[in-house]
Amino acid sequence: MSTPRLEVDLGKVQHNARTLVDRLAPLGVGVTAVTKATLGSVEVATAVLAGGAHRLGESRIENVERLRAAGVVAPILLVRSPMLSQVDRVVTSADASCNTEVEIVAALSEAALAQGRRHGVVLMVELGDLREGILAEDLERVVKEVLRLPAIHLRGIGANLACQNGVVPDDRNMARLSALAGSVEVAFGLHLVEVSGGSSANLDWALGGGAIGRVDDLRLGESILLGREPLHRTPIEGLHTDAFTLVGEVIEAKVKPSQPWGSFAQTAFGPAVDTAGSRSAEHGEGPRAIVALGHQDTDPWGLTPPPGIEVLGASSDHLVLATGAALLALGSEVRFQLTYGALVRATTSSAVPVWHGGGTR
Ligand SMILES: *Cc1c(COP(=O)(O)O)cnc(C)c1O
Repeated sequence: MSTPRLEVDLGKVQHNARTLVDRLAPLGVGVTAVTKATLGSVEVATAVLAGGAHRLGESRIENVERLRAAGVVAPILLVRSPMLSQVDRVVTSADASCNTEVEIVAALSEAALAQGRRHGVVLMVELGDLREGILAEDLERVVKEVLRLPAIHLRGIGANLACQNGVVPDDRNMARLSALAGSVEVAFGLHLVEVSGGSSANLDWALGGGAIGRVDDLRLGESILLGREPLHRTPIEGLHTDAFTLVGEVIEAKVKPSQPWGSFAQTAFGPAVDTAGSRSAEHGEGPRAIVALGHQDTDPWGLTPPPGIEVLGASSDHLVLATGAALLALGSEVRFQLTYGALVRATTSSAVPVWHGGGTR
């Protein structure tokens, strides 16, 4: 096997999806599995669908197209608003998309009409996190315009919190979302088939006895892939946090002094280190290793090495480790767990091939 590589245990991904689907089902909440961190991996998509997700969520049309080209027929929701320049591709490959701009929905309608299709729309409402969302006072005006568009099916409304400003989903903002769904239905005499309440950040609320109201869908990425909730990055009980592993190879192993020497200027990635307070100094003289990984492969500060090993620093291609009491063997592999940020950097790096294992059950 080549190094570096990103190993994916598909059985663990499937288990995580199944566990969350089973916990949310009694609440009447289905799971849209967001696979965007894997760039539309057909293997991961197959695993989460086998785990009971009713739909896939992707942020980029390229990923949706990759899934379709690989034969995935499950419904796909584009969770980022389509670009005006991509509406044709969006209606061809995605069943539905999250939207906040009437002009873009109108362009989707024209594109869908030209292709003889209908495109589903989930209107995203601003609940305070100040990323995407229609302000509540504008919602009915937007709905009115969207309902006039011939090739658009207004599926429902949705919201996204905790991404831009860390606003926590709670009974108050989720009740607001449910109330908005109800008032749209009353005002226009229609039924919304979905109220997509949020992301993995909503799990504490939903599974902690929150008032579910009209919410019937959550778009879950990090919790399925990495087994953590993103508000505090706490592991979710019963889920695997190690479905993804980044593997690198040792290219230098030596006992090194604790202090760098010479005169100091900037490092490859920013200001000079505070030599007295550097991680290397904290470790004293001792066994170090260089693993052939760096900023070109991942976010080095988002890696968790095996117990007893610590990341001291990284440049583009070198990851410097303190290896406890032992010198690692040259050519040996070191396995790292990843944060969501490190995972995204690894999957988007052309330097890191992905290896799938752990067969779906
Ligand atoms: C990325 C994303 C999600 C998934 O978020 P996780 O925290 O990974 O569960 C859900 N909804 C939208 C709109 C997103 O952009």
